[in-house]
Amino acid sequence: MIKKPFASRLSAVSEPESMAMAKMAMSASSDVINMTWGQPDFDTPAHVKEAAIRSIMDRKIGYTVSSGIPELREAVCALYENLYGTPYSPSDEVLIVPGAKQGLMYIMQALLDPGDEVVVLEPCWLSYKDIIQLNGGVPVSLSAGENLKPSVELVEAAISSKTKAILINNPINPSGYIYSYEELAQLAELAERHDCYLISDEIYDRIAFTQFVSLAEFSDIRERLIIVNGFSKSYAMTGWRVGYLLASAEVISRVSLVHQHSATCASAPSQFAALAAATGPQDIVKEMTRAYQSRRDLLVEGMKGAPFDLVAPAGTFYAMLRISKIPEEFCGNSEYLLKEYGIASVNGAPYGDSVSEYVRLSFCCEEDVLNKAIKKLTS
Ligand code: PLP
Repeated sequence: MIKKPFASRLSAVSEPESMAMAKMAMSASSDVINMTWGQPDFDTPAHVKEAAIRSIMDRKIGYTVSSGIPELREAVCALYENLYGTPYSPSDEVLIVPGAKQGLMYIMQALLDPGDEVVVLEPCWLSYKDIIQLNGGVPVSLSAGENLKPSVELVEAAISSKTKAILINNPINPSGYIYSYEELAQLAELAERHDCYLISDEIYDRIAFTQFVSLAEFSDIRERLIIVNGFSKSYAMTGWRVGYLLASAEVISRVSLVHQHSATCASAPSQFAALAAATGPQDIVKEMTRAYQSRRDLLVEGMKGAPFDLVAPAGTFYAMLRISKIPEEFCGNSEYLLKEYGIASVNGAPYGDSVSEYVRLSFCCEEDVLNKAIKKLTS
């Protein structure tokens, strides 16, 4: 038997609870409604799939340039410029990566020395703390305010001499919150004054039901801003594994060293698929977002009068549910919801201690399934 231990940094992390719950829901009885999914229920658009098939048939199957095929880098920069008016240079200010999650891993690997701190605002995506810890960093987590509002006003006090970065997700998984322009301006000013990086994970930027402002619009902080985004959510392409980072040439050159020595490049056919997604008709993104919005409305309306408080999301395809009128020990316990109501959800605790009384519901399901879920939750 091997006695040598695994690296101590592994002891702080565990399997993402959303994945564990999704597995459990899949093996549960067929009556159970699975609301754990963190991925669109839509198919990847046909022209995107065809582009990948074409690339395979044309033998575009080898390694690509590590930073990504030039056409995709151009398309991604054009997308951000069209959406948010901010130009990035396709030659040295963008990196195509195998998914936004991998991109975050690279950033932390490139930025953090042991003990460096990263400020995160609850509720925050459950992988952030683990990704920071896996790279020797210390997450400094700030409690959510009323109605799960991220506590921007607490950020300054949390910044120390060890703070390397502030990491936000906008719109937020799991609450669907969208930061206001003023809140983003405040974060930008703090990052500038305290000389730290500001990392903005905008993977749900297109799934917004109200005005969304990208931190890319704040050109003054360009040197310290790192945008994380990808194709998974907006284009229903989770399994294709294509994401991208936008940042200064210096940041991209450092982060790309980690990428070159780990993945080499994102999968070639997936990059051609992503190119078709970014340059093809964008109405499909709007259509999917309209569907999520109508499900959101259905859920918010349907849950009125239920023994739970739903925090209405302004974006994403998630909503947080506060289980307030049941025995206290069950608050935020997805097992209770599963046993009593036949709904599989994800516990709130992994998204932050301050949201442990909540569970996350995903509405990546057809409206008739959602109606059934609402019926179960209100009866
Ligand atoms: N960032 C957030 C906030 C997410 O919720 C997810 C996936 O759930 C990701 C990043 C990962 O995206 P990708 O599929 O591009 O790795």
